Amino acid sequence: MRIDVITIFPEYLDPLRAALLGKAIDRGLIEVGVHDLRDWTHDVHRAVDDSPYGGGPGMVMKPQVWGPALSDVCAPRPDREGPPTLIVPTPAGRRFDQRTAEELAGCSWLVFACGRYEGIDERVVQDAAERMPVRELSIGDYVLVGGEVAVLTMVEAVSRLLPGVLGNPASAQEDSFSDGLLEGPSYTRPEVWRDRPVPEVLRSGNHAAIRRWRRDQSIVRTYHRRPDLLAALDEAALDKHDRRL
Ligand code: SAM
Repeated sequence: MRIDVITIFPEYLDPLRAALLGKAIDRGLIEVGVHDLRDWTHDVHRAVDDSPYGGGPGMVMKPQVWGPALSDVCAPRPDREGPPTLIVPTPAGRRFDQRTAEELAGCSWLVFACGRYEGIDERVVQDAAERMPVRELSIGDYVLVGGEVAVLTMVEAVSRLLPGVLGNPASAQEDSFSDGLLEGPSYTRPEVWRDRPVPEVLRSGNHAAIRRWRRDQSIVRTYHRRPDLLAALDEAALDKHDRRL
């Protein structure tokens, strides 16, 4: 997968090259380009923002800068089949979740446009949407200072789903949300820590009992912490043991 990020703070994206993602880049599974939006300015102050029409606090990012930046970064490339999918992080977007991460993991090229200030002039998204798929996405119901942290969040969630990125692909399949539920508790050695023993069943070696226990824990945890997830679950996804809980 090719990932491009346009931002006024390229250094904010340095963590993309650390840990698991860094390894995926080194192994050629992901290709990342980070672009400084100010490279597309033409004035001495390299300004990317201007005051809002209609008044009000804050500044708005200029279309005359974003337009050429997106035209260049999203330009057709001989090594790409079609245009990228443009992701615009915004608190006013649709909620990014595991399902969205799975959809985006199916794309071969993603371009992220990081807003700052009050956001990007609305016409930039409308204009881009004529040439490529555009998704305005929010990572949660709170307001960040800029889109960079949202991009790090989304890129991490998407990349770990790509083939070969995780050492053991089964871990992504068993994680929270993959079956619509939260994952239950995990334990490692020692068997007893500060008088707290690891649940007996996990030490039993009885794989069917362990599977059942994990499923029960997952349902009970989801019921207490995220009843909305349980309510949204298809009845058919529950077996008769699940329904007894
Ligand atoms: N005026 C905007 C509003 O109320 O919807 C908020 C702009 S915010 C201060 C600046 C930038 O941070 C946004 O353009 C977006 O890139 C990013 N951002 C802030 N909160 C976000 C969230 N919850 N999800 C994704 N991006 C967010």
